[in-house]
Amino acid sequence: MPNTSQHRIACPFCGQLQDVELWDVLDMDEEPGLRTQLLSGRINRVDCPGCGKGFRVDKPVVYRHRSEDILIHCDPVTGSRTLADVEAGFSAGVAELERLLPPDVEPPDVHLVIDWSELVERIFLLEEGLDARLIEHVKYMMYQQNPDRLPADRKILRFNAQDSTDEQLCFVVQDAGTRKLEAVLHFARADYEALVNVFDSGEQLALLEEQFPGPYLNGRLRFLQDQAEG
Ligand SMILES: [Zn+2]
Repeated sequence: MPNTSQHRIACPFCGQLQDVELWDVLDMDEEPGLRTQLLSGRINRVDCPGCGKGFRVDKPVVYRHRSEDILIHCDPVTGSRTLADVEAGFSAGVAELERLLPPDVEPPDVHLVIDWSELVERIFLLEEGLDARLIEHVKYMMYQQNPDRLPADRKILRFNAQDSTDEQLCFVVQDAGTRKLEAVLHFARADYEALVNVFDSGEQLALLEEQFPGPYLNGRLRFLQDQAEG
């Protein structure tokens, strides 16, 4: 199956219709060079021949890296679709995949993200061997502990692998409105490891799964929901 497909799209700036080839599947085992393109925001970017402006087409993309055991579905919430629609579609797709697999084959752990920043964040996080649910739990705690510095309705926390060390996990604070990166917060890796141990037991793990039932894991969203419920 080809990893790209043709689409007729309209330029968001000048409206010119054009036929473009866009990525559906980013297969890192087959085409490792795509990683650099992804990190520099060049995947599914179009330069309009009409007005010369560049833009990115937000369409679903699968990121696959078998040798790292990473499978992520990026499904942007666009148009009239809601997050609930995206989650329902994702769950149906995963159920279908599991149905098609032979019974002795362990189904892959597929991750769901809804924008490009989340996709890049999740790739790094999984490559670091971190637990996505636990990282979102850590973010939740950071929002809880820093209500003044980190108002969850206006600030997004993103895990930053490049600046993380053996001692500290690094998180960047991004303004939800301006998308500007504003500050860096740290979380001791020893505290993360302690959480890994805490949630190692079945009973505690059930609590974590109750907090983030999935498939979409987002500590900020969960914190805002809990806040709204008082
Ligand atoms: Zn244009």
